[in-house]
Amino acid sequence: MQEIKDFSPDKIYMGFPEELQPHYAYEAVQIFNDCGAFPTFVPFSSTESTDCSGIWLQKGDERRNIPYFAEKNEKTEHKLQKREMYKIMSEFTGYSSPWGCMTGVRPAKIVNGMFASGMNYDEAVAELQEFYMARREKAELAATTACNQDLFLKNQEEHPENIAIYVGIPFCPTRCLYCSFTSQPISKYAKIVDAYLDLLEEEMRAVVPELLSKGYKIETLYIGGGTPTSLSEKSFEKFMRFVTDIVNPADLKEFSLEAGRPDSITEGKLQIAKKLGVSRISINPQTMNNETLNVIGRRHTAEDIETAFEMARRAGFDNINMDIIAGLPGEEISHFTYTLNKISNMKPDGLTVHTLSVKRAADLKRDAKAEMLKHNITGEMLMAAQQTAKEMEMHPFYMYRQKNMLGNHENVSYCRKGCESPYNVHIMEEDQTIFAFGAGGVTKLCRYKQGENGKEREIIRSFNVKSVEDYMKRSREMAERKLSLI
Ligand code: SF4
Repeated sequence: MQEIKDFSPDKIYMGFPEELQPHYAYEAVQIFNDCGAFPTFVPFSSTESTDCSGIWLQKGDERRNIPYFAEKNEKTEHKLQKREMYKIMSEFTGYSSPWGCMTGVRPAKIVNGMFASGMNYDEAVAELQEFYMARREKAELAATTACNQDLFLKNQEEHPENIAIYVGIPFCPTRCLYCSFTSQPISKYAKIVDAYLDLLEEEMRAVVPELLSKGYKIETLYIGGGTPTSLSEKSFEKFMRFVTDIVNPADLKEFSLEAGRPDSITEGKLQIAKKLGVSRISINPQTMNNETLNVIGRRHTAEDIETAFEMARRAGFDNINMDIIAGLPGEEISHFTYTLNKISNMKPDGLTVHTLSVKRAADLKRDAKAEMLKHNITGEMLMAAQQTAKEMEMHPFYMYRQKNMLGNHENVSYCRKGCESPYNVHIMEEDQTIFAFGAGGVTKLCRYKQGENGKEREIIRSFNVKSVEDYMKRSREMAERKLSLI
């Protein structure tokens, strides 16, 4: 048996041959971060046994080998091994994740794969419960979401020439504590904002006409960041005018604008956006509790959110999404249901419910016991949000998971029928090419090639530099990177 120095009987150890570097094994045990039982890794120089994969888990005197599965496909083999690791870790810790051993970020994409292989809704739900050991409510959520994506996916299959354009404005009024996006407080960059916009225009003008000339059809345009409405009215108008000069809004199925922070919204900006064809906006409260807004670094009140929402309705927006977060610091169920009630009274057209990611919220961490309690109530919060969405006659249409989410839960977007965002569906499904402009933009070229198992999807990524300063020095290079993909 492999010797472990300083062995502790209370800890869990995971051994694997040094040459193996099993990233999938890390993913499987990452689930147990949530209950504070991440194993200590013990790399060693050779496998001990030939009848196992070389990976083992140990707690106390009990060592369990992960079997070797003789599968043709390496992906399937790893999937089976991950499942074994999950089962053993569950036994060692007494913890089970709501999504079972599922580690990917896109549960609905897994279900879409099941549908493509001929399974129906009930069979997919059963497979998620039996193979992945997901809870029934999560299995149903993923399967329902996948069903609501069906038309969008079929449309993309029929029109592979359809693409999306993303334009990033990496500025916000202030930086939220949990932020993991490319975003900076706009006051710090006030002097260079217009120069940034000029370079962004150059980048778009160098690439978009080329895309059109090659037969691509722009289906959706998404202006994100950051918070694009944090630009001054004058800069915002200049920006929106060149964007809509380069991409014709009349040809789009969706033109989305992130107007997330109410402290960045003015009547003037809403009117410009409406006039230039924006069809969907997001106004994101995150919470309707003023105390929490203050804790997370949002320098606005819940009343500001209501005012901004009314302003957007008056400007004529009939597709307004609102984002909220379950598990914010200091929030109990009562705070969250208060937020849900307030939102329900405003009657938005979409509701996106995020689960706080613990890693992002490092600054917000309190003592471990309080964190554990929060893990338990996050699930209840998400169920309450699902119920509110149902009462507002909304259905889930896209979802994703991240590492280190409280309670290993998920982010789900609900909307009224007809208010779905094709952009978000395709981003999650990764079935559509997206060209991204501005600092931090990630371009994904989606194409198909003939593989061992028939037609296989291939995603080629091209990253724009993240920092504003780097982008301003290298924006031409970012355009050239994209041109080389066309
Ligand atoms: S509004 Fe969004 S992008 Fe801006 S700082 Fe907050 S989390 Fe980050």
